[in-house]
Amino acid sequence: MNVYDGQRIAAMLESHGLTQTEDISDADLIILNTCAVREKATNKVYSALGRIRCAKKESALFGIVGCVARESGADAFKRIPELNFVLGPQSYHKLPEIIKDPDTKLLNIDLGGLEKFDELPQITKSPTVAYIPIQEGCNHCCTYCIVPYTRGRELSRPYKDVINDVKNAANTGAIEICFLGQNVNGYKYTDENNKLYRLSDLIRETAKCPEIQRIRFTSSYPTEMTDDLIEMFGTEPKLLPFLNMPIQSGSPRILKLMNRPDDLNGYKNIVKKLKAVRPDIQISSDFIVGFPDENDSDFEETLNIAKEIKYINSYSFKYSPRPHTAAALMKNQISEQIKSVRLQKLDSQLNENQREFNTSCIGQEMLCLCEGPDKTGHHLLFRTPYMQQCIVAKPDYEISPLQKIKITDANKASLRGEIIK
Ligand code: SAH
Repeated sequence: MNVYDGQRIAAMLESHGLTQTEDISDADLIILNTCAVREKATNKVYSALGRIRCAKKESALFGIVGCVARESGADAFKRIPELNFVLGPQSYHKLPEIIKDPDTKLLNIDLGGLEKFDELPQITKSPTVAYIPIQEGCNHCCTYCIVPYTRGRELSRPYKDVINDVKNAANTGAIEICFLGQNVNGYKYTDENNKLYRLSDLIRETAKCPEIQRIRFTSSYPTEMTDDLIEMFGTEPKLLPFLNMPIQSGSPRILKLMNRPDDLNGYKNIVKKLKAVRPDIQISSDFIVGFPDENDSDFEETLNIAKEIKYINSYSFKYSPRPHTAAALMKNQISEQIKSVRLQKLDSQLNENQREFNTSCIGQEMLCLCEGPDKTGHHLLFRTPYMQQCIVAKPDYEISPLQKIKITDANKASLRGEIIK
């Protein structure tokens, strides 16, 4: 989501005549786009602001946008008095005001709904992977999560607007569409004729664009995986056989405390249905260890589910207490030391899953999307349909971005392969 927001901010400022520089000391305007989901991310923002303050030109305007701006509000000006603007994730379309009047302090952390989408210019050149937000905010209120506070209640964008964005991306260079939302599979839009549109409708319509070869979406909520969406994995070959469907914990007791779906059989049933329609599908998850009151046997259950579902490409985090969340006030907070030990154990299970899956890919042929050269310039980096990185020797002829690659080797982190001509 932040990559997308960054692209839109850049496009908006370019339409006001600004150009990008890589050099902070040369910049007239410096914007830090921020994430508040864990405390570490927020801390990083303030240390980065300290560095920017020293490196920037005296006259340069600087400020923060995104979730830390929304969370900090006017306090951000107290902590860093030189800041010129603090704009929440739904008000960054107000940025041009600061260029017009550099002497004011611009503060806007309102939850403005979806109006920013109407005020931002269309992208004229799309990257090969186009991120397209279809909804923002979340109504689920997981007790650890700051997102309902920073991004607000769930709002779905009009179906026609999303399809316009898809067509625009397809016409300007996109090959892959990644639909985005904090609760992406909860997308629900009812038009003026009372017709309800779901994510499955967006996927079906997007697949009709000949330029678009791959479709994916993130982040999903387990119980929003309705049958119409599951069926798409069976009927729409452009939808990648890979799904991030976070479980967070394998303990029903902890899931209840998290206010997450705690019926593990229900979750496993969704995985079963997905495998039935798309036998080659792989699932990834996000995990939180050290949630308040998590004991050793709760954690064992998390290890067991990671092993049982054989998640690939997963993310794991130590629980981080966040302002405005219920879990931050719960009793029996877990010590950093225990969190670290549990994270290490979980990571070694997740790494084992990853290594096993990567090794099983050796010898297979996969249609992969080129992301560009590696640092040495001698190789090209591709993404497989499972979002694994695949390193390929750079050919001495021009290639199109989508290539059939034979996987020749694998380790935990990446694959190696050869282009099949
Ligand atoms: N569905 C949201 C959540 C993203 S946050 C979205 O797409 O915007 C990504 C992951 O961060 C979550 O799935 C969860 O595993 C983790 N996370 C969220 N809040 C956390 C917290 N307070 N402490 C630790 N991890 C957290």
